Amino acid sequence: MKKIGFIGLGNMGAKMTMNLLKANYEVIGYDINKEFVKNLLPKGLKPANNLSDIAEDTDIVITMLPNGDIVEEVYDNIIDKFTRGTLFVDCSTIEVDKARELHKKCEDKKILSLDAPVSGGVGGAEQATLTFMVGGTENAYKMMLPLFEVMGKKSLLCGSSGLGQATKACNNMLLATTMIGVGEAFSLGQNLGLDPKKLFEILSTSTGSCWAINSYCPIKGVGPTSPADNDFRPGFSSDLMLKDLTIALKAIESTNTSAPFGKNSQENYKRMVNENQGSLDFSAIIKFNK
Ligand code: NAD
Repeated sequence: MKKIGFIGLGNMGAKMTMNLLKANYEVIGYDINKEFVKNLLPKGLKPANNLSDIAEDTDIVITMLPNGDIVEEVYDNIIDKFTRGTLFVDCSTIEVDKARELHKKCEDKKILSLDAPVSGGVGGAEQATLTFMVGGTENAYKMMLPLFEVMGKKSLLCGSSGLGQATKACNNMLLATTMIGVGEAFSLGQNLGLDPKKLFEILSTSTGSCWAINSYCPIKGVGPTSPADNDFRPGFSSDLMLKDLTIALKAIESTNTSAPFGKNSQENYKRMVNENQGSLDFSAIIKFNK
């Protein structure tokens, strides 16, 4: 069985690691926060005291880190320490261009690599129902597939290096934009005197239906239980949504794509975060639509 190194044992990484341990993989874990490593020792995690420990004798190294600069720093610190054909899999959400640069660095060192950001949040990480959007080679994907199956319910090789991150950027830009649109529809309905439950009943079964209405309605007491029923506690925080929209914006600019709604969504979330509301769930944007 393959030996796994896992770097970044935060909200997502800890749950993903637990699922690997449950499936009897040997996992050696590292996080700059030693408490997070300690918490997983009773579950069978082997502690790494530093990044060099991860490089010893691992077949696959998974990173789940806050942003692209940190992933790059970790890669730069570890990449020279491997002596055999290790596969690097970055599951963090980072910029498409940065993911491509990291693939190139790995290729230069003859290390296989995948970008494999996820959708499904902390709940999906815990229940092993994540979706992995993957960029890289078929060979690398095949090597990682059994682990994707342990940590998630779906994975798709979206194309060559960086195209996993590209898929994630498109998905989250669309999610933010539809959530803003859903908020506007409910605000208009309310101002016209509509009962939101009746509006939901029609919207969720008509041409306006979408995941943001049907599964995540931002109105308290309407539709299935969602963060709106819980004072907008996340869920998926607006801070993280702004991060993802900023990644999408960079991709819009670097490809010269016309995406005025995506840009507008980024501005709306920026405003919300600047008003110190970034810790609220992203569906709370309904209160900040301007
Ligand atoms: P988190 O902040 O909870 O975890 C990140 C971990 O990385 C922390 O434990 C931190 O101590 C550790 N870390 C930071 N710098 C490090 C370094 N140099 N070396 C080793 N460890 C280091 O974040 P998270 O919510 O687990 O998210 C991780 C990634 O997953 C992000 O890129 C995020 O955008 C993405 N993501 C998150 C969610 C979500 O709902 N939380 C959903 C989808 C994708």
